Amino acid sequence: MPQQTRSTAGPEAPPGRLEPVTDAYQREAAEVAGLLGVVPATGLTTDDVRRRTGTWGANELAEPGRRPQWLRLLDQFRNWLIGMLLVAAVVAGIIGDIKDAFVIAIVLTINAVLGYLQERRAERSLEALRQMLVPTARVRREGRVTVVPARELVPGDVVLLEAGDRVPADGRLTVAASVEAAEAALTGESQPVAKTTAPSTADGDETVPVAERTGVLFMNTALTRGRAEMIVTATGMRTEVGAIAEALRTGGEPPSPLAVQMDSLGRWLALVSGIAVAAYALVALIRGENLADLALRAVALAVAAIPEGLPAVLALTLALGVHRMAGRGAIVKRLASVEALGSATVVCSDKTGTLTLNEMTARALWSAGRLYEVTGKGYDTAGTVRSTDGERTAQLHEALRPFVLCNDARLTPDGIIGDPTEAALLVLAAKTSLDTEDERIHVPRDGEVPFDPAAKYMATFHTDADGSTRVCAKGAVDVLLHRCTHLLTDQGPAPLTAERRREVNDAARRMGRQGLRVLGAATAVTDQSHPDDVSGLTLTAIAGIADPPRPQARDAVALARAAGVTVKMITGDHADTATAIARELGITGEVVTGAELARMSEHDLAGRIEDIGVFARVAPEHKVTIVRALSEGGHIVAMTGDGVNDAAALQAAHIGVAMGITGTDVAKEAADMVLTDDDFSTIVRAVREGRSIYDNIVTFVRFQLSTNIGAILTLLVTVLAGLPAPMSAIQLLWVNIIMDGPPAMALGVDPPRGNVMHRPPRSPDERILNTRRLAAITRSGAVMATGTVAVFAAARQLTDAATAATMAFTTFVLFQLFNALVARSEDDPVLGRHQLHNRTLWISLAAVLVLQVVAVQAPFAQGVFDTVPLGVAQWAICPATASTVVLTEQAWRAGRAWLSRAPRAQRPRRG
Ligand code: ATP
Repeated sequence: MPQQTRSTAGPEAPPGRLEPVTDAYQREAAEVAGLLGVVPATGLTTDDVRRRTGTWGANELAEPGRRPQWLRLLDQFRNWLIGMLLVAAVVAGIIGDIKDAFVIAIVLTINAVLGYLQERRAERSLEALRQMLVPTARVRREGRVTVVPARELVPGDVVLLEAGDRVPADGRLTVAASVEAAEAALTGESQPVAKTTAPSTADGDETVPVAERTGVLFMNTALTRGRAEMIVTATGMRTEVGAIAEALRTGGEPPSPLAVQMDSLGRWLALVSGIAVAAYALVALIRGENLADLALRAVALAVAAIPEGLPAVLALTLALGVHRMAGRGAIVKRLASVEALGSATVVCSDKTGTLTLNEMTARALWSAGRLYEVTGKGYDTAGTVRSTDGERTAQLHEALRPFVLCNDARLTPDGIIGDPTEAALLVLAAKTSLDTEDERIHVPRDGEVPFDPAAKYMATFHTDADGSTRVCAKGAVDVLLHRCTHLLTDQGPAPLTAERRREVNDAARRMGRQGLRVLGAATAVTDQSHPDDVSGLTLTAIAGIADPPRPQARDAVALARAAGVTVKMITGDHADTATAIARELGITGEVVTGAELARMSEHDLAGRIEDIGVFARVAPEHKVTIVRALSEGGHIVAMTGDGVNDAAALQAAHIGVAMGITGTDVAKEAADMVLTDDDFSTIVRAVREGRSIYDNIVTFVRFQLSTNIGAILTLLVTVLAGLPAPMSAIQLLWVNIIMDGPPAMALGVDPPRGNVMHRPPRSPDERILNTRRLAAITRSGAVMATGTVAVFAAARQLTDAATAATMAFTTFVLFQLFNALVARSEDDPVLGRHQLHNRTLWISLAAVLVLQVVAVQAPFAQGVFDTVPLGVAQWAICPATASTVVLTEQAWRAGRAWLSRAPRAQRPRRG
């Protein structure tokens, strides 16, 4: 029975010394408590904490030094293209055109500041996200248990831990009930190690290796089993993990597949654009253009043509996207999972607390052959427990006692503390006027087998009034029945015959079919010599607990289905309960139990998995099997989890989703995404956001690349046609600012389109620049180049060269405004109500228009941009021409839609 070890810390602690206790592992816990001046039963006082914080500082590991901001601003100039442009500007300045050199320097500075601001904004968003996941710790201070940020812990604090918690500092165990800790990060030991309150002693003078210090817990390791209390002995850099320099070098996040794709796309485009620019320069040189002018323009063209801004916009779009998602309950920890979310095909969700509210109310009770109806709301103990043939309070109390004693929850005037299932059982007992607190005081607990989702039961050991040891257990009825030999009847415990077993199972099944979660209670006087063998019990009662589905879950399941994303329910509950809830939520498909799953071969499972909608009575390790089978079938899997045993499945899934409220630290650390509201519908919303973020990335890629192509084609065509260049270097740089700047940013934060959840998931293998997109981009680029050259050539015939150049420049800039609208969608008509939904975009487009008017009309700007003022008719021609990019694309899409509809229209009508 000694599952729980408690050290003999004296009630009075001597005044503590304020020095680290580096050898706590070999001292008795009471001694450590004394050295640190703390009484474990009450913890430190607020004054103690304040003083110790002053002495020891925050419980934090030092972060690697950050690069100063001014250096990061300068980093923006390190781009080789920018460098080339600077050199070209200096050369131009030396040759004679000081103004150009000066303006280029200013433009480059604006560019750099924009880039720097984008980076900072992205970083701040991600930093804010990290702040949402700050670790906390449960401590006992001033005699009360409170939750504080882990960084506020001080030596001497009494920390309470349970399975799944991350250990927030180094500490000496004072209570250890079946404790195991995963210390691989520190010791390399892959298996969890058992911990007790006993000190470890070394042979002779040798120190005990860290891996063998069983009486202490270490910062950043995790409790995988049991319940513990420890006194903090070291914090921050004084901990064992703080001493290991390597552990602090937090490796950055590896680039996401999309970032890698963008990078290779960027290189490829740089090469193509580079060749095109070189060709342009060569032809212009042969045509005898001024060398200095040409050099400057060629480099400016390269700046405009090479999409060097893509990585920055990608980073910002992802960062702002995940920031927006965090505001809606989904904290994405790895940016790569945003992409995976966008292509998710299956969401495997836990039932309890995710699809349901985890607001447990016992609705039915069965004991000694009688079915009781339970009334009352939520955790209010005012309800009743009624049976058809009269109540037998004394017998009911006996039946329910195991539920009360084998229970860690508490009912307080402010609500419940602990597991809602356990609280519901306390409420049930209280409704029969059983004094649950009094019971616990009179029958204290000596040891326990903590609840484990794999074992599906919990047991506690107590000393009866006559000194014998009593075991109380509660758990899944099927599991408990295996450990029972008797059933409580009106005549007392009676052997569990096949007939009685059937009676119990029938009662449990009836409750399960109503969607109730079913738990049994059992007890026995046990033989102390077999502490782990919880058997020979008498089943005393079965309770049926209602846990209503979340109100939005049904709609979310339907929305996911419309979006081609299958929802599968995974639960530890009985198949009957699971099926009833699944049907209520609209989750279809076969029901398979963990036992059946265990019997299936990988091949069988792969063949059936598409048809399975509900996995019931599963143990956490089954989740890994499910993820593997789905992944092998080509699915992109999102899997939820909360417990310490879910970590493996969360890591195996493409998108591991941990519960923010009920999830353990271990699950949160293993996950890619944490739900702050534990709500299933948040996952579906995150899928929608994931798709929308990807759409936005595609949008600005379309926008930037079509401009790049447009600029190159414009200059190439003019030089080949023997015309002078329609745009100067500075004008090209202005176009580049528009392209990388606010309009591109605004496209990056486009709100989700209406149809985003009415189409199948994107294939994970899809290239961002597929043939179809490349064709669309080239189309827009070609229209922009044609329009600009046409305006330029025609205006040269009708007016002077300077006016023609200004008109060409203005037309090209206005093309960008219209092109932003084209880029916003791929298949929908360009013109439509959806264009009204991005206010930021319209503001930035209006700003560009105003600036363009200033660049052309304002005398001071004319000197800078080499422009001349335009008349009203000339102004009218520019937007009219620029709008052709919208009109041609609109016509193209309408034609394509018509062609794809045509075969259907020709189908013969029925009847
Ligand atoms: P999921 O969150 O994945 O849907 P679940 O909450 O349905 O899982 P578990 O919490 O693992 O599943 O519970 C599985 C079974 O274990 C329940 O059906 C119940 O019979 C039993 N059980 C649940 N909680 C306790 C508990 N605190 N003590 C004893 N038995 C429990």
